[in-house]
Amino acid sequence: MLIGPQNLPVALAAVRERIARAAVSAGRDPADVTLVAVGKTQPAEVLRAAAAAGVTDFGENYLQEAETKIDLLADLPLTWHYIGRVQANKTRAIASRFAWVHGLDRIEIARRLSDQRSPHLPPLQVCIQVALVAEAGKGGLPPAAVPELAGAVVRLPRLRLRGLMCLPPALSDPQRQHAVFTEMRALRERMNAEGFAMDVLSMGMSGDFEAAIAAGATHVRIGTALFGERH
Ligand SMILES: *Cc1c(COP(=O)(O)O)cnc(C)c1O
Repeated sequence: MLIGPQNLPVALAAVRERIARAAVSAGRDPADVTLVAVGKTQPAEVLRAAAAAGVTDFGENYLQEAETKIDLLADLPLTWHYIGRVQANKTRAIASRFAWVHGLDRIEIARRLSDQRSPHLPPLQVCIQVALVAEAGKGGLPPAAVPELAGAVVRLPRLRLRGLMCLPPALSDPQRQHAVFTEMRALRERMNAEGFAMDVLSMGMSGDFEAAIAAGATHVRIGTALFGERH
């Protein structure tokens, strides 16, 4: 099948089917896995078509591009997730335009987001980004540093700590993918045993979302499998 905007409803149905099958084989309810459609580089009309086909959650990496689309789609009841790296000079816009931030990895950024989140909006939902393997340019904290940031985030009034996110190296072997995602799940369990209340694991992309769901992903962030290759 050629994946691209013209085939969006077919690609979406195929992705939903794969999500459901992965959930059921892991003994999970497919409704517990949220599809976050990653629309970077896709124009607003394509996202509008995805919304018409039932997508409610969209993930964006680039603030300026996202703001244009958020404005153009303001008539739709969509949930916007910021999944890119957060730069300090972008926190005000991110705190006011998005419902979620997935890639939190610095306390200064957390403080700014909390300070800048309007009291008229619900708290900003955040995930801490974990780098199980350090990779240049990707961000994320080593697991040992997660408790300290989490402890600071739960004291920030305008943030709500929901869980952990990862962006692991692309691996083609499903067993190796599963091993990485299982480490994430174990880390969340350790955090909850320390008194945190994390319910989210944001993990899994086009090439590995089934392994992520098998390991407990609650949010899969999928671009290419829905919209085709980015150019
Ligand atoms: C681009 C991106 C995705 C989606 O990747 P695909 O492989 O196209 O599904 C998910 N998460 C993040 C953080 C991304 O930057």
